[in-house]
This record gives sequence, C-alpha cells and structure tokens, in this order.
Amino acid sequence: MTTRSSASTSATLSAWQERAMTSLMGTYNRQPLALVRGAGCVVTDADGNEYLDMVAGIAVSVLGHAHPALTEAVVRQSAMLLHTSNLYYSEPQLELAERLIATAFPSRVFFCNSGAEANEGAIKLARKWGRTHRDGAWQIVCLEGAFHGRTFAALSATANPRYRDPFVPLVDGFTHVRAGDLDAMVAAITAETAAILVEPVLGESGVHPLDDDYLRGLRRLCDERNLLLILDEVQTGMGRTGHWWAHQRAGITPDVMTVAKGLGGGVPIGAVLASPRADVFEPGDHGTTFGGNPLSCAAGCAVIDTITADGLVGNAAALGERLRIGIETLRSPLVASVRGVGLMIGVRLRREVAPAVVAAALRAGLIINATGSRTLRLVPPLIITTAQVDEAVRLLGVALADVAETAG
Ligand code: PLP
Repeated sequence: MTTRSSASTSATLSAWQERAMTSLMGTYNRQPLALVRGAGCVVTDADGNEYLDMVAGIAVSVLGHAHPALTEAVVRQSAMLLHTSNLYYSEPQLELAERLIATAFPSRVFFCNSGAEANEGAIKLARKWGRTHRDGAWQIVCLEGAFHGRTFAALSATANPRYRDPFVPLVDGFTHVRAGDLDAMVAAITAETAAILVEPVLGESGVHPLDDDYLRGLRRLCDERNLLLILDEVQTGMGRTGHWWAHQRAGITPDVMTVAKGLGGGVPIGAVLASPRADVFEPGDHGTTFGGNPLSCAAGCAVIDTITADGLVGNAAALGERLRIGIETLRSPLVASVRGVGLMIGVRLRREVAPAVVAAALRAGLIINATGSRTLRLVPPLIITTAQVDEAVRLLGVALADVAETAG
C-alpha cells in the first residue's frame, strides 16, 4: 500500500462531494473515498492512494477488480450482442442457467437484475404456488434481523423498522420470528402460510450464521407441512461461505433460491432458481426487460468458470478461516467476538465504535464496512491471497488500536 496523501485526497473528494450534493439523491451515507480504479483486491483513489478492499462492493466483486477473464468476457460479448430482450433466445443466458444449476440443485432459472428483484420473483412464485398447490395459502414467514432488499415485497420480508417504517403500509402477508428458534417458526405457520424465506447467514444484521440443525429443521418443517423453503443466497452464494451455496453445508436443498451480488462479479444480474416442485411460472406471470441479457450472462459465465478453474470456493473456506483466526489473535480489547463462515466475517465490538473503526481502517489503507454501530463486516474478493489476508489483519489491528486509544 502507498502512504495516504489525505490533503490531496480531500481536495478531489470535496469537489466530488459537492457535485453529489446537487446531482444525486441523498440515499447514501458514503465513506470519504473517491475511487477510480482497481486491480485484484486493491483499489485506488483519485489521488493514487491504494486500499486493500475487504468489502468488494458488498460481496459483489468475487473475482476482485479488473480480472482479465471477466474483462475479456464483457469486452467480447459487448462487441457481439449486448442485449436482445427476453422475446428471443440467446446462448449466454442458456450457458449461465446450465452452469448455475450444475453448482446448485435440479431447477430452472429466471434471470433478473438485482437481489431485491430476485426476492420479488421468489415471493411471487410462492404466492402462485400457494394459490395452486396449497389451497390459496399466500403468507411467508421470515426472520427477525432479515434483510431481503428495498423494493416493496422484499422490504416487507425485511425486518428492520428503520428501513420499513417510512414506507408503510407495506405488502401484506409477512411475519417475522426469532432466528434459530424452530418452535417459534412452527408456531408462526398457519393454513395461510405458503413459504418460509431465510438467509442462511443473516448478513446486513451483522453476519449471523443459522446453524445447520436449524436449517435442516426448516427443511423438515417445509416437507411435513407442505411449504416452500426459499433461501436468499444473494450475499452468501457464489462460493463466499466456502461452499458454492451456504445451504450445502447443512446438506439440504431449498425449493427456491435467490442469487445476485457475486453472480456477475460486478455486472448487475440476479437469478431465481426453482426446483420442479416450485417451478409454477407460466408465460405472462413474470418478466423483465434487462434480466439475463447476453452481457450480464456472459459475465456470469466467466465468474462461474473462473471460480471453478481457480478453486476459489476452497480458497474462501481456507482463507476465511485464516482471516477469522487472525482477527481473534489480535486480542483487541474492542473485539467481543468474530463470527461468520468462509469469507463472510462479522466482528462484534464491545462498544458502539464500528463507524470509527471503519474510518481508522480507511486511514490505514483498509476498506471494511460496518453493519450497525457494533459490528464490522469483511466480505473480500474470493481471489484474496494469504499475504493479503495477513495484511488485512495487520491493518485492522492498527485501526482497532487507533480507536481503542482515542476512545480511552
Ligand atoms: N438479500 C440479501 C441477503 C442481501 O444482502 C441483499 C443486499 O445486500 C439483498 C437481498 C438485496 O440485493 P440488491 O441490493 O441487489 O437489491
């Protein structure tokens, strides 16, 4: 990493911040960082400062930045055919669907553009399935702490009042129960319930893995009560947890799975996978203009092929473990616990200083993210090396010490 030149950074940054104030809606609290390029796990700001990127666009850039295989696929496809609409066939979409199914479970795929949109599709699928296969059942049980996206149905499945409250009334038919409590789930199921929707690791609410027994319990419950099990693998998927899909660790198969984030490695794309039991959409039920266009699907194919060829699922398992142990070994007085699976790590802090640690890390040349005031999240590219993991741990140690010192 180069030394930070904060004075010149702030000159570029304040100009961009000013332009953003007048031209962009105020939907984000952005970090003071003006990024212009990246290579591998390192990004560079407008003044040439380099940062080790442990956020990867929030679990998106699984191949890091400017990966030659992804760049080549995007350039090649864009010179051939960018977009066709779903009125016609195009081979990249078929190729990507076949690759996805091969990593997951027997299913068919609907392509869309984002995680929220994938969940919207899954929710519509559950409603139609309930109507046709479970006497008109239409409700969905979700988890407290869940995050499923910002569109209306996805937001209704999301638990956080801060995201929900400004937009009520939301879509009817969603209830939330405590994660990990199978009895609470059983109690929440009624004749109107069509599906259970959960993230195998609750990401936005602080990286809380559901345990394997609980996931198996949900699967059993769905079988016994004739419900669909929908898994939101938007953040946990694409090898991040050391398995292609987080549910594979528990040895279960969902009826429906939603995917996005890492699928395009930075090119927007999402997907819904439905097993034969749940595959009830017919022509006219659902659609999208952009979803699954040749460009995004060519990107998705390059991502899956590279993850496979380079053994990146195994890398996520091995280096995730090294990262977790490394952070524990720092023995920072600020750290209460380190949790997560593979390269999806949450660091629980003893005090509400997560934003201060994120800022201190940035000054040290490390990009991390806070989910709430007491949890740090690290979701780096799956191509990360041992040396980079060790450097991230060292820089995080610097940031934690910095904050521990100033916070007293
Ligand atoms: N589901 C999960 C588990 C997520 O983590 C996210 C985004 O963070 C979403 C859905 C929404 O995805 P998107 O922001 O692409 O709409």
